[in-house]
Amino acid sequence: MPKYDYDLFVIGAGSGGVRAGRMAAQLGKRVAVAEESKPGGTCVVRGCVPKKYLVYGAEYGAAIKSAKNYGWSASSVKFNWATLRDNIQTEVSRLSGIYANILEKNGAKLFNQRAELVDKHTVRLTDTGQEVTAHTILIAVGGRPFMPEIKGIEHAIMSDDAFLLNRLPEKAVIIGGGYIASEFAGIFAGLGVKTTQSYRGDKLLRGFDEDVRDLVTNQQRLLGIEVKLNASPTEIKKSSGGLIVSFDDGSKIGTECVFMATGRKPYTATLGLENAGVKTADSGAIKVNEFSQSSAKNIYAVGDVTDRVNLTPVAIREAMAFIDTVYKDKPRGYDHNDIASAVFTRPPVGVVGLTEMQAREKYGDKFKVYTTSFRPMKNIIAGKDERCFMKLITQGRKETVIGIHLVGDDTPEIIQALGITVKGGLTKADFDATCAVHPTLAEEIVTL
Ligand code: NDP
Repeated sequence: MPKYDYDLFVIGAGSGGVRAGRMAAQLGKRVAVAEESKPGGTCVVRGCVPKKYLVYGAEYGAAIKSAKNYGWSASSVKFNWATLRDNIQTEVSRLSGIYANILEKNGAKLFNQRAELVDKHTVRLTDTGQEVTAHTILIAVGGRPFMPEIKGIEHAIMSDDAFLLNRLPEKAVIIGGGYIASEFAGIFAGLGVKTTQSYRGDKLLRGFDEDVRDLVTNQQRLLGIEVKLNASPTEIKKSSGGLIVSFDDGSKIGTECVFMATGRKPYTATLGLENAGVKTADSGAIKVNEFSQSSAKNIYAVGDVTDRVNLTPVAIREAMAFIDTVYKDKPRGYDHNDIASAVFTRPPVGVVGLTEMQAREKYGDKFKVYTTSFRPMKNIIAGKDERCFMKLITQGRKETVIGIHLVGDDTPEIIQALGITVKGGLTKADFDATCAVHPTLAEEIVTL
């Protein structure tokens, strides 16, 4: 008789949890997974996937406009929000079903309810009150949007709500200068919403390379977004015409919708971590060692709940390292350096490696920077001012490439491939020796 009901109990069926649950079940382990919402997690249900579809939706509108100089004319072009919203939700449900299926097909038991820790080896399923034991527990519950405590915050929406709006507002104020605020400002503007993006700093996308930040701040304005800088909201009030947001610079904006995109926090508050001796940081993030092991030896955590690098593919890699460590006798952590990532602004951003500022902190003045900025060919006839930007940072006598920063159409696709060059330690000479593919936007990176 096994000592525990399951070998592995996973709390959270998002990207990390599903991957770990599936792999462990494939290895013959007795696995259960609990999920209080739809399987798939933030990425599939209320994040990356529906967001990318909204970006596609916004891009169609822009393409129709710029097609005119290419000879196309279209009369009575109209956008229907309900069509896009519902089609996206249909796809989200399909994908969520696939996630549930993957688990069950591999023999894992899926509980469609919330689970909380009772002790190191026991979880309680909160709908039914059933208690289940497991040898190993993996926490992969992700994060939740953070809403600052300002007066009237209950009138604001967050990213979870934005996908399900009954109707698209005519006017919206988006608060924040990070990924979600910048991406949604581009989406809303592209779908015809008069959009203000308000950020407390002096340029968008803190943490990114300064040139990228300058360009994105500028390009948001080219999309018709009112970018309001150095201001934080202090109050949101209902008015006869909708809402009024007040800012700490004394200004007020009347709007129909206030969208807070002010970061996300690990979703650990009522998980019962204290019952199992699992320690957290002040942010609520589960503290883990390089093997994703918490302060309780049999409890591990992967993904956004650990607040390391909060990206879907990273959670998946951490889950794979967990499987190798716990079930394959190959202990390993996931290397969080040089992770390529993208921001789906319009145009988007693709980056990997060190920013110029980080290179300076690490290497003093012993590094080189190559940049280029140009109007992509497609935009010339279209009559668009939007520019493309590329920066390559190299270091050492051999000029090893340590950072690449791109802004322009398709740069998320391009950076996926260029990420290999940084991870693989390739040099500027390798870039120079690579023949260009012409005419493309990406060729500029090998002709710097
Ligand atoms: P970010 O941390 O990227 O941005 C949060 C923004 O809100 C920052 O500009 C921050 O300002 C601002 N802010 C925080 N608190 C307040 C406050 N009290 N008042 C006013 N402004 C405030 O978080 P997001 O919510 O945009 O995204 C969450 C995470 O999700 C990201 O970190 C990323 O890991 C992930 N994500 C990734 C995407 C991708 O890969 N394309 C897309 C979407 C999300 P400041 O800069 O001054 O701190």
